[in-house]
Amino acid sequence: MKVVFLGTGTADSFERAQSSVLIERDGEAILVDAGNGCLLRLGQLGKKPADVKAVLLTHIHLDHSGDLLPLLKARWLSKVEDELKIFAPTGAKNWLESQLEAFPFLKGRLNYSVVEVGEEKFNVSGFRVESVKTRHSVESRGYVVNGVLFTGDTAPFEELYCRDFSVVVHELSLPEGFSSSHTTPDSISRFSEVLKEKTVYFTHLYPHTLAIRDRIIERLGFGRFAEDLESFTV
Ligand SMILES: [Zn+2]
Ligand SMILES: [Zn+2]
Repeated sequence: MKVVFLGTGTADSFERAQSSVLIERDGEAILVDAGNGCLLRLGQLGKKPADVKAVLLTHIHLDHSGDLLPLLKARWLSKVEDELKIFAPTGAKNWLESQLEAFPFLKGRLNYSVVEVGEEKFNVSGFRVESVKTRHSVESRGYVVNGVLFTGDTAPFEELYCRDFSVVVHELSLPEGFSSSHTTPDSISRFSEVLKEKTVYFTHLYPHTLAIRDRIIERLGFGRFAEDLESFTV
């Protein structure tokens, strides 16, 4: 399985696309989140709208969902026949339908399904997925996909790490003191014992975090900062 970081930035990033990851295996491709800029990054990889079969949405903040409607519209204009399967936290179905009120010309033209997930296991496009409730400022989920944990936006907590994973794509939004609904070097350091045993990629990087990235890694003693279009294979 190949994982490509499409966007490692946040809502105020201008040099990185916003949150999105491409996961590929055996000719199938799905996304975790579809923040602004992910369509451009997919194009840079030579992908087409039809190539993405599903989106695992961690939550509906704009920096994780801004390219979802554009992806659906691109699939409509490209005459893609199969529906885009969207897995998301509770409330996502209404949220998407209410967005279409603002774009009435799209109503009835976009081919998608929304499954609102709690804590459960399911399969999509040949991927084994486990959804995990996370701790953010809105309803949110993390996903374990074939042994890789994608945290989405969350404060770190013990149960999150009691899953079967060897690699984690972990948000590390902000330095200490900024927010309790995100991960900081201080809050994640409480779980260093378990995380030192894993391969850890940090993403969802605000400029304040990037400004002190070397100091953070030195202090934590584990993990590395991901870059847009960087990839790894598991
Ligand atoms: Zn968020
Ligand atoms: Zn975010």
